[in-house]
Amino acid sequence: MIKYKRLFTGGICNNDCVLCPVTSERAGYSLGQILDEMGSPEGLVDSLELHGGEPALRQDLTDLIAEAKQRGWRRVKMTTNARAFADPQAVVSTMQAGVRVFEVKLLGHVPQLHDALTQSPGSFMETIQGLSNLRNVQAPKEVKTFVGVRVGVGAVNYPYLPQMVSFIMQVGVDRVTLSLDDPQAHMSDVAASLKAAIDTGLVNSTWVQTEGVPPCLMGGYEHHVHESFGIIEGERERCEPCAACAYSTCAGVAPAYLEANGPSEFVAVLSSVHAERMKEAAG
Ligand code: SF4
Ligand code: SF4
Repeated sequence: MIKYKRLFTGGICNNDCVLCPVTSERAGYSLGQILDEMGSPEGLVDSLELHGGEPALRQDLTDLIAEAKQRGWRRVKMTTNARAFADPQAVVSTMQAGVRVFEVKLLGHVPQLHDALTQSPGSFMETIQGLSNLRNVQAPKEVKTFVGVRVGVGAVNYPYLPQMVSFIMQVGVDRVTLSLDDPQAHMSDVAASLKAAIDTGLVNSTWVQTEGVPPCLMGGYEHHVHESFGIIEGERERCEPCAACAYSTCAGVAPAYLEANGPSEFVAVLSSVHAERMKEAAG
């Protein structure tokens, strides 16, 4: 498992997503501020993830990446809405600078859905063009790139997850991550759509992984669930049923979700071969 240090590159963005987690930090960051926070690789954390805001909008992006490589960061990943990559030249210069891994954020499989959630007319077409360019523009010689798609799942778009996976596969990405971060979407409902989306990916040999819904709601699909492996983004809280659960590696549920919906959906998994394996692996 590659361990990334997440590096915030400023809050400026050309989308205005309904569920954006950085709305209170939309200010720009100077290159000096970012370099102060970048530091150097330490122990097993030898890779860097640039996120914002939209990192690809920075005029000094190639300087930033060059400095990261100079300091010894082995791998540089970028989480992006990919609109800037609708220009093929932006793809070439970013790859030449040293970014090898791209995680493209997508909220819908049709313009009506995606643009409504980004509150930015025209964003879907640019993101899809950018994604396609990241896949198809010739990378510098002997450079292998990885292009994933990250779907922010919420109350509006969760019913369409199988269609979204089906659409994304046509571009031919390396991985799809479906990440729930909306207390308004009930996890039990979302779980059914996540499972159908995973099935859609499996039939077409595309790996689909999930975040934000714990393994007790994802029976039979645990291998696709980040929380099964103790991997979490953001704060989590174990609730009452967790005390008796075999998933000691699971950190629980987002506190905002528990506050809005309570713990009644979650039922302790009393026995699970997968949970035992994860426990052993965690030592
Ligand atoms: S693309 Fe990301 S940073 Fe930009 S508005 Fe959407 S969620 Fe926020
Ligand atoms: S009951 Fe708790 S510990 Fe067990 S899988 Fe669900 S959220 Fe995780």
